[in-house]
Amino acid sequence: MTALPETIENHAAQGVLALHWPDGRSARVTHARLRAACPCSACRAQRRAGIDIPEQADVRLAAIEPVGAYALNLTFSDGHRRGIYPFEMLATFD
Ligand SMILES: [Zn+2]
Repeated sequence: MTALPETIENHAAQGVLALHWPDGRSARVTHARLRAACPCSACRAQRRAGIDIPEQADVRLAAIEPVGAYALNLTFSDGHRRGIYPFEMLATFD
C-alpha cells in the first residue's frame, strides 16, 4: 500500500506542488508537469492516440481536493478538473 504524503505544500506563485513522503523523500512537481500527466480517461485516450498534452508553463493548480485516502483531485487554471491523481502515481515524481 502506498503511504500517504506527510505534507503537501502548494507554492502557488512558483507553480510547484511539494510532496513530502514518510520515508524522507520529497518531490517538487511543477503544476505544468502535473497537468501534462493528467491521468483522467480523456487525457489517457489522447496520449494513447499519440497526442501529447503540451506542458503549459503558465498553467496553475486552482484547487486541490482529497479523494478518500488514496488520491487528490486536481483542478487546473485551464478549467480541467477530471484528473484523480492517486498517491501511488504522485509518489513516482521525483
Ligand atoms: Zn485529464
